Amino acid sequence: MIGDTEVLIVGGGPAGSAAGVALARAGRSVTIVDKATFPRDKCCGDGLTTGALRELELLGLDPNTVPSWKVTSDVWLRTPGGWTVSYPLPAGQGQYAAIAERQELDHQLLLMAKAEGATIADGHAVTDVRPRPDVVEVDAEGLGTLHANYVIAADGMWSPVRKHLGMALENYRGEWHAFRQYFSNVGPRASEDMFIWFEPEILPGYLWSFPLPGNRANVGFGIDRRKVSTQAMKTLWPELLARPHIAEVLGPDAESEGTHRAWPIPARVDEISLTAHRSFFAGDAAAATDVMSGEGIAQALWTGRWASEAILAEPDRPEAAAARYRDRVAQGLVADHKMSNLLSGVLASPLGVEFSVRTSGMSHWTRRNFARWLFEDYPRAQLFTPRRYSRGMFSRDGAYQ
Ligand SMILES: Cc1cc2nc3c(=O)[nH]c(=O)nc-3n(C[C@H](O)[C@H](O)[C@H](O)COP(=O)(O)OP(=O)(O)OC[C@H]3O[C@@H](n4cnc5c(N)ncnc54)[C@H](O)[C@@H]3O)c2cc1C
Repeated sequence: MIGDTEVLIVGGGPAGSAAGVALARAGRSVTIVDKATFPRDKCCGDGLTTGALRELELLGLDPNTVPSWKVTSDVWLRTPGGWTVSYPLPAGQGQYAAIAERQELDHQLLLMAKAEGATIADGHAVTDVRPRPDVVEVDAEGLGTLHANYVIAADGMWSPVRKHLGMALENYRGEWHAFRQYFSNVGPRASEDMFIWFEPEILPGYLWSFPLPGNRANVGFGIDRRKVSTQAMKTLWPELLARPHIAEVLGPDAESEGTHRAWPIPARVDEISLTAHRSFFAGDAAAATDVMSGEGIAQALWTGRWASEAILAEPDRPEAAAARYRDRVAQGLVADHKMSNLLSGVLASPLGVEFSVRTSGMSHWTRRNFARWLFEDYPRAQLFTPRRYSRGMFSRDGAYQ
């Protein structure tokens, strides 16, 4: 029986679990409700940036509990003109990039929240949310009506909580749209390294192959829906996979597992509302993904943690907690979002990609530092936000050292 709770988290993805771990660890009564029954799949590239890895380490996740966890240190970029460069991440200093199947990763994170004392109610969809003077009232299938002092809406791209609170953006379908498919029996290169192909028709989007254990790979491509139509994606998918430089990396025996899946990616954290009556939007529900790369796991973990910190700091003053959360997100993500938007504009043209990749690939030093920046080892707009400087931030070890 689920009773009323201090904080109700809607959604048990990375944003919801990160918030759940932090709140339960601080001794708060917290319930995570998710419509899916875990372990559940999430359409994703499964790529963990340094930013995500550091946050997972901070949460206390043990990578050994995630069987598909694969550390990788080389990423290959190919320009539309065929220029290919390998970017090595620092070796022997911890993890800077890893791949982990979301089905396993998200389940482990939810189990961590449970172990800290959070109540988990998976398999129950939230069907209505009503603001009341001193609480939030939430209806969930099979659970009846729950009351909470605070709600964290970590319920993904389509955020039903946002909709129920009347704050959904009309006709909003995300900035990006991406396909993903798992492959078995991939060749030795796709089994070990990460590949990013900038193909002319999908710029500033790209096609990726990320390695998984057992000669498997997560392969997919994303498009900026303002530049490429989602209708074109179905026909583009087989065409892209058949291109010789891509087929060669995947190898002659690569076999697709089931059909591909597609899902939108929201990236407008600078414009969307982050709070509403005693409710905080986190992760995809806050449109927090990186607009240049489409990555959102680190952003989900950060915003989940920041929402919980705001609640912990102001347990009885919802307006102060909301202001604190909005400030934290502005400080931690908005400048980076603007920077990514700018760079995404550069990557929208083949010439822009050639210039960026060739410049960043000039020397071992530029390649290594570009790779660290690409993998969010430090914020995208770090150079333009000196207030966020800290000693040694450009030479830190990776996570899980
Ligand atoms: C194809 C693709 C590839 C991507 N690749 C990468 C990548 O390689 N690296 C990266 O960092 N990011 C990647 N992303 C982005 C990343 O997947 C998301 O940013 C991330 O999953 C956001 O996490 P979240 O916790 O906010 O939401 P989610 O992980 O989407 O979790 C939301 C949860 O809310 C639940 N929910 C929804 N409705 C309800 C309801 N009514 N009641 C209760 N629960 C509900 C859902 O069941 C779900 O479990 C990719 C995205 C796509 C689409």
